[in-house]
Amino acid sequence: MNDLVVPVALADRSYEVRIGADLLRRAESLVAPLAHGRLFVVTDSNIAQLHRSALIEGLGPTLQPRATFIEIPPGEEQKSFAGLEALCTSLIQAGAERRDLVVAFGGGVIGDLAGLAAGLVKRGLDFIQIPTTLLAQVDSSVGGKTAIDMPHGKNLIGLFNQPRLVLADLSVLGTLPKRELRAGYAEIVKYGLIDDPDFFGWCEANADRVIARETDALAHSVYVSVRSKARIVAADEREGGERALLNLGHTFAHALEASAGYDGALLHGEAVAAGLGLAFRLSARMGPCSQSPVDRVLAHLRAVGFETDLRRLPGGPYEAGRLVDIMTRDKKAEGGRLTLVLARDVGRAFVLRAAPSSEVSALLNEALTLAA
Ligand code: ADP
Ligand code: ZN
Repeated sequence: MNDLVVPVALADRSYEVRIGADLLRRAESLVAPLAHGRLFVVTDSNIAQLHRSALIEGLGPTLQPRATFIEIPPGEEQKSFAGLEALCTSLIQAGAERRDLVVAFGGGVIGDLAGLAAGLVKRGLDFIQIPTTLLAQVDSSVGGKTAIDMPHGKNLIGLFNQPRLVLADLSVLGTLPKRELRAGYAEIVKYGLIDDPDFFGWCEANADRVIARETDALAHSVYVSVRSKARIVAADEREGGERALLNLGHTFAHALEASAGYDGALLHGEAVAAGLGLAFRLSARMGPCSQSPVDRVLAHLRAVGFETDLRRLPGGPYEAGRLVDIMTRDKKAEGGRLTLVLARDVGRAFVLRAAPSSEVSALLNEALTLAA
C-alpha cells in the first residue's frame, strides 16, 4: 500500500500527516529532514514495551545515536501539573536545546502532554507526533491542541501548538486492545455525521472491516477523517467558528466522562458514541431533524458494539440533573447557556449557540428512563 498524505495548510506552520503501514520502520528518512539536533522520544511504558524496538531500528544509523527515550507511566493522571513538571524536568536534565526535536510517540495522553512540554521548554522546541491509538491518529494528533487537566476539568491548561509532522503508522494499531480501537472508531464516524453523508454510508458498509483492522479499511477511514479534520482546522485553527463542529457529541460526552470519573470505566470514544446518539435525539426533539436519521445513527452505533442506552452505559449510574450541571460548566458554555452541535440530517451538523438547557434536561430525563 502506498502512503496517503494529507497536508494541513497553516501558512508558515503547515505540515503533513502521513498515513501508511510500517512507518516506524521508515522513520529515518521521514524524520531526518526535521532533525537538526537530538531527538527526545516521549512515550509510555506500554508502547515502549511493544514498539520501542521497531522505532529504534527505524531511526537507523543516522538518527539512532541522537535519540533519547523518555518513558512515563501510562494513564490520564500524567496529564497534570505534576506530570508536566516531571516531563519538563526530564527534558532539561537530558540537555534538550531549542534546535532539538521532541517526538510524541503514543496515544492522546502522550501527544497532549509532550506537545505541551515541547511548546514550553526553552520557550519551545519543534515536535512531531507518532500517534499509536486510532483515536490519536484520527483526532488528537492533528490540529495542534495540547493540554493537561485540572481538578476542575479536562484540558483546561494548554497551548495551540502545531506539530511539524504527523506519522500515523497503521501497523502499530495491531497491538491496540479491541476496546480502545472501537473507541477510536467513534471519532471516525463523527466526521461522516458532521458533513460527509457518503462517508457515513461507507462506515455503515465497512465498520466491521475497520474493527477487524483490515489495512485498506483502516487506511481509508483514517485518511478521510484526517482530511476532514485538516480542512476544518485550516479554516478555523483557534475554534472561532467552524472548528466547533468537531465537538459533535462532545458536550454530552464530556459530561458523561466527568460523571463516570476518569478511571477507565468509560472511554472517551465510548462517551462520544453515546453523545452522538444523544445529539441526534436532541436534534429530532428540538425540530431540525426527522426521526429516520436518528434511527439510522443509533442502529449503526449499536451494530459496531457501542452502548447507546444511557441506563446501561459503563461508568454509570448517570443522573440527568448532574449531567446538565456539568454541561453548563463546560469550558465551551457561555454564561450558563449551552453551545450545542446539532444536525439537520446525517452529514448536516450545525452549531447552536445559547441553547436552552431545559431541552437537554428533558432529553436526558427521557434517556435515563426510556430505551433509546
Ligand atoms: P487515547 O487518548 O489516544 O485514547 P491513551 O494515550 O489514553 O489513548 O492510551 C490508551 C491506552 O492504550 C494506554 O494504556 C496506552 O499505553 C495504550 N496504547 C497506546 N497505543 C497502543 C498500541 N499501539 N498498542 C497497545 N497499547 C497501546
Ligand atoms: Zn473526542
